[in-house]
Amino acid sequence: MDSSVHLDNTIMQFGDFTAIQKTDLKIESGEFFSFLGPSGCGKTTILNMISGFLDPTEGDVKIGGQSMKGVPANKRPTSMIFQNLALFPLMTVAENIEFGLEVRGVSKSERKKASDRLLELVALEDSGTKKISELSGGQKQRIAIARALAVEPQVLLLDEPLSALDLKLRQHMRTELKEIQRKTGITFIYITHDQGEALTMSDRVAVMSAGRIQQVADPITLYRDPHTPFVASFVGENNGVRGKVVAADSNLVVLDCGPLGKLSGRSQGNLTVGSDATLFIRPEHFRLQSEEGMHTLKATIDEVNFEGAYLTLNANTPANQALSIQLGTHQFSESLKKGAPVSLSYNELDAIVIAGEGHV
Ligand code: ATP
Repeated sequence: MDSSVHLDNTIMQFGDFTAIQKTDLKIESGEFFSFLGPSGCGKTTILNMISGFLDPTEGDVKIGGQSMKGVPANKRPTSMIFQNLALFPLMTVAENIEFGLEVRGVSKSERKKASDRLLELVALEDSGTKKISELSGGQKQRIAIARALAVEPQVLLLDEPLSALDLKLRQHMRTELKEIQRKTGITFIYITHDQGEALTMSDRVAVMSAGRIQQVADPITLYRDPHTPFVASFVGENNGVRGKVVAADSNLVVLDCGPLGKLSGRSQGNLTVGSDATLFIRPEHFRLQSEEGMHTLKATIDEVNFEGAYLTLNANTPANQALSIQLGTHQFSESLKKGAPVSLSYNELDAIVIAGEGHV
């Protein structure tokens, strides 16, 4: 079955305010797709246009190739899981799961079959007769998923459903959600401001800022090859060093970074000599020992933190550029302390240069 979702040149305006700029995006059938972005960037608005709670001002939403124009929310092949789950506290677990089917007039025996199957899917076989109040946070989460799946949607929409859970459970539920998605094969559309969630679960992620999709890619590509300064700084941690392009070919770009000298990195897009650009170096790409072909920045240590598996250093260059560095614990030495000088080297192939100044 085709359960793709196509935002077909969709625009959403609230009065004069454009919440979603013109967007053309196809989410494939059976994909785990996330919209990732800071608060207010338009994630919920996109979900609401897909579910039918909002009609786009321009363009269309197509599900399985069918236009959803004029199709009300309750007639769309979608189901939504909200942040607060919205379970019915006085009903049993099975009654919660069966609710949507009962509304649709499905017989008691069919409903029971469905809730048994879904309880098994979410690994809560023995909980059908329990009250919602008797469940833990993670169990409630799974019942919300089971209830949303009961009506056999083609597309499941998830609005930050893990945000109320504690960190451990949240991480565990990421694996469970991914597993449920794999087993059911339906399209999952997930919105979150938590990059960890988006990167661990998704086949592809759309990174959004101010109503605009900045980049759509699989998690590894997003991390390695961000296309915009916003994506470079929002997905994972990054150090941005501003400069002017002094030389560029299709692979490498050299920037004049003023007091920091000339630094280079891989080129992202077309960069012309004389233009402003930002060199991004991830904290984990700094080394204390320089090797052939590496560039070095001299800095002074502000802070050293032992984090268990690694060390984080905050340092400042003489040009007052703050740097964040992550080193393996084995690189710890007594000389790494506040006020000490440090030489930080990086391989130019690990750094990326992106046009513009953007977020740093
Ligand atoms: P959050 O993560 O905080 O939920 P979000 O990324 O989901 O944020 P949206 O709720 O989609 O963001 O809102 C996007 C923008 O549209 C915001 O600036 C918001 O104030 C605005 N907005 C959303 N709904 C309406 C509305 N009904 N009327 C006017 N403006 C709205």
